[in-house]
Amino acid sequence: MRAQPQASHFINGAYQEDLHGRPLESLYPATGEVIARLHAAGSETVNAAVAAARTGQKIWAATPPVERGRVLLQAAALLRERNRALSELETLDTGKPLQETLVADAASGAECLEYYGGLAGTLTGEHIDLGGSFAYTRREPLGVVAAIGAWNYPIQIACWKAAPALACGNAVVFKPSEITPLSALKLAEILQEAGLPDGCFNVVQGFGETGAHLVSHPDVAKVSLTGSVPTGTKVAGLAAQTLKHVTLELGGKSPLIVFDDAHLDNAVSAAINANFYSSGQICSNGTRVFVQKGIKEAFLARLAERTAKARMGDPMDEAVDTGPLVSQAQYEKVTSYIEAGKAEGARLVCGGDRARVEELPDGLFVTPTVFADVADHMTIAREEIFGPVMCVLDFEAEDEAVARANATEFGLAAGVFTRDITRAHRVIAGLNAGTCWINTYNLTPIQMPFGGMKHSGIGRENGHAAIEHYSQIKSVYVEMGDVESAY
Ligand code: NAD
Repeated sequence: MRAQPQASHFINGAYQEDLHGRPLESLYPATGEVIARLHAAGSETVNAAVAAARTGQKIWAATPPVERGRVLLQAAALLRERNRALSELETLDTGKPLQETLVADAASGAECLEYYGGLAGTLTGEHIDLGGSFAYTRREPLGVVAAIGAWNYPIQIACWKAAPALACGNAVVFKPSEITPLSALKLAEILQEAGLPDGCFNVVQGFGETGAHLVSHPDVAKVSLTGSVPTGTKVAGLAAQTLKHVTLELGGKSPLIVFDDAHLDNAVSAAINANFYSSGQICSNGTRVFVQKGIKEAFLARLAERTAKARMGDPMDEAVDTGPLVSQAQYEKVTSYIEAGKAEGARLVCGGDRARVEELPDGLFVTPTVFADVADHMTIAREEIFGPVMCVLDFEAEDEAVARANATEFGLAAGVFTRDITRAHRVIAGLNAGTCWINTYNLTPIQMPFGGMKHSGIGRENGHAAIEHYSQIKSVYVEMGDVESAY
């Protein structure tokens, strides 16, 4: 097996196995080959990881913040140094093209560690003048953070959670998705090599039950989940029983609104990026593309012409830009939505089939698919597909587009394309979404807070905003005069 790690878990600075745990296999989605065999963590292993984190956290919180930052910066340097090997591992685990993983996965994780490594030494409370006496606030860590990842950006998600958590002086127990268990272990090795004390970043593998055990653990202070809305609901319910802090990064069905005056090719590029990058397996994707009637046919023609140029094939070939879906289950789900789109009367503009790549007959490939004349009530316009399926919907008026864009329980992201600057800001202000773009889509620089409204999530990752979700404020009143009392 070409990606077998030393053992399944990484606890207290060392690899550990839990042979009693449920078997867990990692497959290369382009071939179906088993690349690693691991075991899920049972309750004893989860408890050991939390105990290690509890001990490690005390040491880490007492480490001067600038020194904490230095460790994160060193880890970032190691990630960058090993970017190719990490990218190849991520491609094997997820099936995403190497062309993408070389620039978007470990590299973005490194950027995140650099950002929070730089911020660590600047985190402060405040001084509050009370006229003679004063108060101050201390910014303190929360304690042990349980972090749970999805499978689409495994190492990036691990870094987006670990970097701000560690910068603030917390320790982390990370559970990767059972579908992509491998790169988090490499991150654990790198953090240790960078000087992170043992126990401060632990990895436990497992399915939902391992995650649930972690979330329920009484010594965990905070839970940060990236996953679907149904999982988010369960995790929030479990966390509520012990009143834990929660950050939830969940699913979406985001709108991308293209007005008649938009730059046509830029809007088409953005729609392609918003639907077909990572074979459409991105939470913030703009999967409902509302196109104003005047530009609709030109938009569809250009979109079809450019989508035909997608190069599908072996994800390890850097010329390939379209890889397989991550798993058989995801493949079945996506293709069943394509069938639903056809059955419910949407017009197929391109794609719409299970694709076959000659040299990879067992690969889980789906052709980038565009449906036009999609109506709001259709299943493909309402539910998150999480695959390369774009829905194009027509609209006439601005108010109508905003109202229809908002008519969903999701609120993760949104985009608008127009050359009218006033309209751009007015439309964005009217959209119920946590992360928005004007004249581009899906760019998520680490400095910019990221997260959802409505059912798409609670809390924010990235930027200064994440600090608020990984630390707590202690207020201290300092009396400078005498203490008066009634008697
Ligand atoms: P999922 O909800 O099936 O699983 C996410 C994680 O939660 C996995 O690690 C899983 O093992 C764990 N889990 C499952 N049940 C659990 C439980 N009861 N308690 C604790 N943990 C549990 O999601 P997925 O299929 O891995 O990922 C796809 C979903 O993630 C999509 O909905 C996508 O939109 C969303 N996502 C969101 C973001 C974001 O930042 N908003 C980013 C990536 C993916």
